[in-house]
Amino acid sequence: MLELEDAVEAPQCCHSSQGCAPEPQFAVAENLCRVVSNQWVNDEYKHLIVNGPEVALRAQPGQFFHLACPPDQNGAALLRRPMSLYRVSPHEGTIEFLYKVQGLGTRGLAGLRAGDTLDALGPVGRGFTVPASAGHILLLARGVGLATLTPLADWARSKGVSVTAVLSARSEGLVMSADYLKEAGANVLIVTDEDGTSQVDHVEALIRSTHAARGLDYVATCGSNRLLQLLQRITADLDVPGQIALEQHMGCALGACFACVRPFRKQADTQDLTYRRVCWEGPVFDLQETVSW
Ligand SMILES: Cc1cc2nc3c(=O)[nH]c(=O)nc-3n(C[C@H](O)[C@H](O)[C@H](O)COP(=O)(O)OP(=O)(O)OC[C@H]3O[C@@H](n4cnc5c(N)ncnc54)[C@H](O)[C@@H]3O)c2cc1C
Repeated sequence: MLELEDAVEAPQCCHSSQGCAPEPQFAVAENLCRVVSNQWVNDEYKHLIVNGPEVALRAQPGQFFHLACPPDQNGAALLRRPMSLYRVSPHEGTIEFLYKVQGLGTRGLAGLRAGDTLDALGPVGRGFTVPASAGHILLLARGVGLATLTPLADWARSKGVSVTAVLSARSEGLVMSADYLKEAGANVLIVTDEDGTSQVDHVEALIRSTHAARGLDYVATCGSNRLLQLLQRITADLDVPGQIALEQHMGCALGACFACVRPFRKQADTQDLTYRRVCWEGPVFDLQETVSW
């Protein structure tokens, strides 16, 4: 078991063309967390709240935990599953996750009840780095990408930074956390497949009009290739920095197994490639350096 004193040092350089992010100060530990609640929020997603020890409560927006999901009914052990920090409350001692119930691992998670123990390795990875001068940021999330971006809204509120959040989903019923983001002071814009507003040209028009009304200083997105390509095009045009949190199958989440390596541009303005571990150099990367898939 990894203890606090065995804390793993994070890498020394972010390799970004925008310079190195501040040295990460996080320690990674295997945290035995007590489940507070684990409720359905709609037909597909559950909201898990756990009590975590101090090291886990230091998690930053964009970081994640590698969760040991309970085994299936045959007792077969599973690899851990990565889940983004959704919310953290050091005051209440709680960490929250918002997850889609899909396969064996998340079905195991879905069975957790209040009082059960969840083994959560983390917090892992490099989170978002918003420019210190930013006054207005855009969060563009589809589906569960919202889980990863929501902590940025909490951070922005604490810093007095304005947030516009564009939430995309198949249908209105699958849009999550809109109320929470509004309470956090965000200007929330919802687009859905159902009414056709999630189409790329409409989302692009929405972002451009948002920027025209009040300049964006930073954008963040998560997961979707379509949204990545859209934001790469818009931010290159408007000269706005941005980042993406990537989702990638991974093994150890500690930079050792290299299962989550992906190609990246060495710098935003070059086609020369380099290879980075999503778990360790990421999961948050510069928008323009990320190679679409
Ligand atoms: C850094 C990071 C943060 C994440 N945060 C969240 C989150 O906050 N909420 C959430 O619901 N999901 C999140 N994911 C995705 C989540 O890890 C996968 O959905 C989960 O591992 C699926 O496990 P499973 O056993 O239920 O499904 P499996 O049976 O393993 O797979 C079911 C489906 O999920 C896909 N999948 C499996 N693992 C991953 C993965 N690591 N990344 C992307 N797709 C995967 C498979 O291709 C398959 O389509 C995150 C992934 C990463 C890498």
